[in-house]
Amino acid sequence: MKSSIADIGRALIGRLGVRLAGQRGKSPDRAPDYPWLAAYPSGVDWSEGIEVRALHTVVDDAARRFAENRCVDFFGKTYTYREIGEQVNRAAKGLRHLGVGKGVKVGLCLPNTPYAVICYYAILKAGGTVVNYNPLYVERELAHQVEDSETDIMITLDLEQIYPKVAALLTSTRLRHVVVCRMSDILPTLKGLLFSTLKASEVADIPDDVQHIPFASLTNNDGAVTPPEIDPGQDVAVLQYTGGTTGVPKGAMLTHANLSANLTQVRRWVGGFREGEERILGVLPLFHVFGMTLVMNLGIASGSELILLPRFELDDLLKAVDRSRATVLMGVPTIYTAIVSAPNLETYDLTSIKYCISGGAPLPMALKRSFEAITGCVLVEGYGLSESAPVATSNPFDGVNKEGSVGIPLPGTVVEIRDIEAPERQMPLGEKGEVCIAGPQVMTGYWRRPDETAKTIVDGRLHTGDVGYMDDDGYIFLVDRMKDLILCGGFNVYPRVIEEAILLHPAVLETTVIGVSDEYRGETPKAFVKLGQGQSLDEAELKAFLGDKLSPIEMPEYIEFRDELPKMLIGKLSKKELAAEEAAKTGPATEEQVEP
Ligand code: AMP
Repeated sequence: MKSSIADIGRALIGRLGVRLAGQRGKSPDRAPDYPWLAAYPSGVDWSEGIEVRALHTVVDDAARRFAENRCVDFFGKTYTYREIGEQVNRAAKGLRHLGVGKGVKVGLCLPNTPYAVICYYAILKAGGTVVNYNPLYVERELAHQVEDSETDIMITLDLEQIYPKVAALLTSTRLRHVVVCRMSDILPTLKGLLFSTLKASEVADIPDDVQHIPFASLTNNDGAVTPPEIDPGQDVAVLQYTGGTTGVPKGAMLTHANLSANLTQVRRWVGGFREGEERILGVLPLFHVFGMTLVMNLGIASGSELILLPRFELDDLLKAVDRSRATVLMGVPTIYTAIVSAPNLETYDLTSIKYCISGGAPLPMALKRSFEAITGCVLVEGYGLSESAPVATSNPFDGVNKEGSVGIPLPGTVVEIRDIEAPERQMPLGEKGEVCIAGPQVMTGYWRRPDETAKTIVDGRLHTGDVGYMDDDGYIFLVDRMKDLILCGGFNVYPRVIEEAILLHPAVLETTVIGVSDEYRGETPKAFVKLGQGQSLDEAELKAFLGDKLSPIEMPEYIEFRDELPKMLIGKLSKKELAAEEAAKTGPATEEQVEP
């Protein structure tokens, strides 16, 4: 590559930082000679300036342009853009009265509901910073995040499963107010009745005191709010907690510029979206960066209808697609695995789906093929991380999709592969190294963690901790995460290679491979395998099957069959529980990791 990534990154980020909402940036001074440019989809210009703005203006614009279109569908109860826009204004005004303004952190501890959309934009419009919380966290994890992020106000639901954990934080942490949203108010009438009669035990009692603010009181105003002036390049819109590359949970500071730039980049990428006409299935949690940008921000900016599901249940998802005629599906690979192996798949009509995106974890090639054969829709794989708001690369919607590749860099994004041992050296095309990203979507740093920031962002480049290589056409192939590498008798063994081989066996549904300690080799691979319904397979049969697919060093020493494999809340298969179990057998577990 001829231009320095640091120069381009700094130039892009620097210019974007001072640009006002709605303006376009200048293109880089000359078109760099990047290998991916030849593969760029027609009509998408890598070097066109990226628009950035205060993020809440996305919902303001949509409420004007698409006022009577459906914005949110929650179990069949729908809300128009006008209604959502009004609620955002009222909630923003209520938050201003509570003291929310620049620098004030407001937590969202909500599953996917209309409240999650309204409150997200309301916090931003009030000038505050959103801190996303995983509602399934235990109290200790929530408390840690409240103190670390300096969250003063938390918005949550009146459910027994969530509210008591949040209420406890009022005495144990700095939290001063809880805004409580009523679940029964957002369910359709029939479900509301069912909910209040059959599931009363699931609804928490909320005290009537100054620390508790019902959502209805927060929004009981005229909605006439004057948002503070936002500086998109400086003001942090979201603190997104992530284990990052080292596993210690920390808040990635995503500015209004980072998030709105990624929105612009993604909108250009999916050029064929029909404004005001798409219906996006929102099963990914909106508190995770993937759902936040690709379901919520993209959906609202394009005037789409968001069909929200509060959790992933296969039947609910299939019914929702069938009922709503959803046109867009965003998911992690385990969601697609569940869909292709659904026992009653033929009873649902999935033909409305036109755009399918997979990200967040490796998409096995066999899964991509079978999903595409069943639905007739191309399953496009992309890649990103919390620190890049999140999308950095994607296969084109209109162009070559390379199997096993996470695609090419999005507009305005530069990806380099750097030597793991000597990061100042860039690897030649085709050779493995650490994937590094520069672009307007890359975070400004980790909140209150200058040391971690300095290790992760070097010369404007985000060091992702992912190992990969770039082919001659600029397509990136991820090999694995640096921290998941198995060091086996002096060789680097990549769990992903073993997982791909195991998944070729037709009886296997899911697998996770980790390194376990081994007296002779230091570490050795162990595979955990979940079989498809009604399938049978034993260790010897699986090893025989793998014989011509893996080298002896990669052959898993141990194979354990399980009915379920641990997953993170977003649905990615998770290695940390399995690694902890194994470590407990041989010695204490290493670093604690918290991931969504
Ligand atoms: P998070 O910050 O929780 O979104 O996790 C980001 C990490 O997920 C990345 O650093 C990668 O290790 C992994 N990841 C994301 N997308 C992909 C993908 N398409 N293939 C493989 N790994 C991925």
